[in-house]
Amino acid sequence: MRSLLLLTLACFLCSPALAKPVTGERLLAADRDADNWLSHGRDYSEQRYSPLAEVNAGTVSELGLAWYFETDTRLGLQTTPLVIDGVMYFTGAWNTAWALDAASGELLWKFDPDVARSKSITACCGAINRGLAAWGDLLFMGALDGRLIAIDRSTGQMRWSTQTTDPAEPYAITGAPRVARGKVFIGNGGSEFGTRGYVSAYDAATGEFAWRFYTVPGNPADGFENEAMARAAETWSGEWWRYGGGGTVWDSIVYDPEFNQLYLGVGNGAPHNRRIRSPGGGDNLFLTSIVAVDPDTGEYLWHYQQVPGETWDYTASQQMTLAEIPWEGAPRKVILHAPKAGFVYIIDRATGKLLSAEPYTTVTWASGYDLDSGRPRENPGQDYAGEPAMVFPSAMGGHNWHPMAYSPDTGLLYIPELDMGMLYDEIAPIDYRHLKRHYNTGYEMSHESYSQRFTQAMLRHLPKSHLLAWDPVRQQAAWKLPHPNIHNGGVLATGGNLVFQGTSDGRFIAVQADNGELLWTFEALNSVMAGPVSYRVNGEQYIAVAVGRGGALTMNTGRSYPTGNPNNRIMAFKLGGSAALPATPAAERPAPPPQPEATAADLEQGRTAFNRYCARCHGADVVGDGSIPDLRYLPAVWHENFSAVVLEGLMEQAGMPRFDDVLDSAQVGQIHAYVIARAHEDHALRQEQGWLAAIKDYATDISARVAAWLVRFQVRDD
Ligand code: CA
Repeated sequence: MRSLLLLTLACFLCSPALAKPVTGERLLAADRDADNWLSHGRDYSEQRYSPLAEVNAGTVSELGLAWYFETDTRLGLQTTPLVIDGVMYFTGAWNTAWALDAASGELLWKFDPDVARSKSITACCGAINRGLAAWGDLLFMGALDGRLIAIDRSTGQMRWSTQTTDPAEPYAITGAPRVARGKVFIGNGGSEFGTRGYVSAYDAATGEFAWRFYTVPGNPADGFENEAMARAAETWSGEWWRYGGGGTVWDSIVYDPEFNQLYLGVGNGAPHNRRIRSPGGGDNLFLTSIVAVDPDTGEYLWHYQQVPGETWDYTASQQMTLAEIPWEGAPRKVILHAPKAGFVYIIDRATGKLLSAEPYTTVTWASGYDLDSGRPRENPGQDYAGEPAMVFPSAMGGHNWHPMAYSPDTGLLYIPELDMGMLYDEIAPIDYRHLKRHYNTGYEMSHESYSQRFTQAMLRHLPKSHLLAWDPVRQQAAWKLPHPNIHNGGVLATGGNLVFQGTSDGRFIAVQADNGELLWTFEALNSVMAGPVSYRVNGEQYIAVAVGRGGALTMNTGRSYPTGNPNNRIMAFKLGGSAALPATPAAERPAPPPQPEATAADLEQGRTAFNRYCARCHGADVVGDGSIPDLRYLPAVWHENFSAVVLEGLMEQAGMPRFDDVLDSAQVGQIHAYVIARAHEDHALRQEQGWLAAIKDYATDISARVAAWLVRFQVRDD
């Protein structure tokens, strides 16, 4: 009896306090709840604006590291943490979730849903995750394997789980769920692998399925799910359903309580090349659209399509921000959107009507928009029909998933902009081979026409990146802060007239929100991609951000912090904080093994195959970012086991898929020879004096090949 009492008492003492529920009322009032960060974009408006002002333009010089938490992964953190009543919750690679004391960084619990590592094959850009949603005493996470998982917020135990995708299809979830009116909303990704996009809703308490809205039509022979799909199908031609069609909603889903509408940010077509996907033309609804649906039923309400007949991987999946701005003399409730296509779209939330579309970065695919019809004026020749075309923005977009922020104080939208083009070189529709589970674009991704021309694109107009403040009322930039490297992190705006951003060159900075002056810099000792958050515990304001390299652009181009890759971290700052990060190890760069015998033709074959199957993770031209191994610096043991890794799945448990469905041992030999040749090439270049100095203002870590070209062609940034 006494031991039972003690046990009960002990359990009472050891179990965390019951979490105060995140009710619908709390979420509706989240913008005024300065202490907390209750949902992905902080509140339903997704402005990523914290009213906290203790850290401000006058005090930010006193800002210091309060604590850091080191995860056990190096695969990249894209997460936006939630902070609820003094506890921080965040996600990382393979859908691990952590709960920390938000004031001290102390670990409270860790949750690992055991995602099959073979799923990495259909995760386009790493086994990453962008965050959680909260409702009641639960947290929700979309898993790479298509599960929607509910986690007990107090204990970190799984409460329910439901499969939201057909596991046989190449779907993957990386985006944060959203929650409203007792339902959890979740999309998915996988267009390039051959999927058909949709968003599903589930009962938050039980996980019971509520509704599903497909974003592109399926095979008409199977019948259409609803009237919207029947109408959408009239804008397609050919047998698009054989390729999935695409239109995945892989990041932005926004609930608008003022109109009781749910906005879906719909992705690109599958494959990208529209002449393969829909050979008779057509707008291909609802690709690259914002679609408004009823959150209770999933019924279609309205849509606005930004890029009819999308053919450049332009997604409308990027963050949608709700605001009320002065427009033609009256307040107007609008969606602010700066997606891949390079325009800031301002859309009336009541009707879906386009109010403004002005370019925020270099744009060549269209000259502008007709505001009456809402349609772009596409520039001739930019759709790469029969002839390669240099197109801005690139498939990476003028702005990608990295969160932007809007400050109601300054009225400015803060965009992590990317000014970069890419050469699109069509695969003739007759030569196109659809490889489910692999990357399907419909343009050439072999070395000569993809990575080398990617490089050529850089040479003609070097990629640039800015923190860009956009004035939606004047429809123009207010200020631009240039960054030395591309692919920079998400943005936070605060009531302290500050904007915070992490950079790929390893800094975490504070900028004055109204004029763009750089006020404060912290050396993060690794690249930062994620969006920062701000919260308050025990009366003190904190600014926190996830640190870690990875994601599409750094994985493709190797443009990351130039050291070894430390474990990913959360960093939290407060005024007077005095903690310090441990030193980051230098990159290990062992000399490559002897070059195996290979003909020029072998190396060329190896190059083509590498760029088709390996480059999206290990980097074009074998220049990786180190979030997964940079193959130029492979330890000898992996050279000895190269074929077993690629064909037999020797490292499948670590997330390296097997490729025996598309490659044979002769091809793997060619790839290996090419990898070693590239390692020798860059090893030799690194031995040369001075090449790095020639590009020091341009990038911190860049392909030695590009560096050599830059020196050779004496390229100047235009
Ligand atoms: Ca895409």
